[in-house]
Amino acid sequence: MPSTPRKAVCVYCGSRPGDDPAFAEAATTLGRGIAERGWQLVYGAGDVGLMGAVARAVQAAGGETMGIIPEHLVSMEVGKRDLTAFVVTETMHERKKVMFLNAHAVVALPGGPGTLDELFEVLTWRQLRLHAKPVVLVNHKGYWDPLVALIDHVIERGFASKSFRDFLTVVPDAGSALEYLGGALESQAAQ
Ligand code: AMP
Repeated sequence: MPSTPRKAVCVYCGSRPGDDPAFAEAATTLGRGIAERGWQLVYGAGDVGLMGAVARAVQAAGGETMGIIPEHLVSMEVGKRDLTAFVVTETMHERKKVMFLNAHAVVALPGGPGTLDELFEVLTWRQLRLHAKPVVLVNHKGYWDPLVALIDHVIERGFASKSFRDFLTVVPDAGSALEYLGGALESQAAQ
């Protein structure tokens, strides 16, 4: 019987832990859940903040990790090298592309400017119909409330279509993200 190809989930998240240990706990729950479901983690290969937390949780649960990092960050020695696959790209742009192309779905945990950049890139690609991959925002403890309000404001003021809001699935915690992804990845497999 042909085996179903392994599903991969790309996680964008803070290279810092934030101001609440609950964020790292959410990253750990997400990482563990990814491994337990037999999915592969694709992420930015960092060993810091929530990035380190999600990768360590996947590894602790016996899962596979693929880290993609640009050369200049490797030379700054910020990469986590004990991953299943450690991919070095020439540029940040190439890195984001390789991360996205290797994933079946995207999840954003709490994070900072880098997370916002990564999230909005895939949302604009979606708007331009370049892909139809699920994009999930983990609004843990309401961290992303101001962002969700900003998106609604942008739509309300006529700078994005109402459908833009449908490209982003906002969930309250990591457990809900895993549940949503389970259904979304299953329906992808059935197509
Ligand atoms: P930020 O939200 O600004 O902390 O940036 C985190 C996002 O940008 C991650 O999802 C990474 O892909 C990328 N990134 C930022 N800083 C690093 C780092 N020190 N090591 C690896 N990736 C990073």
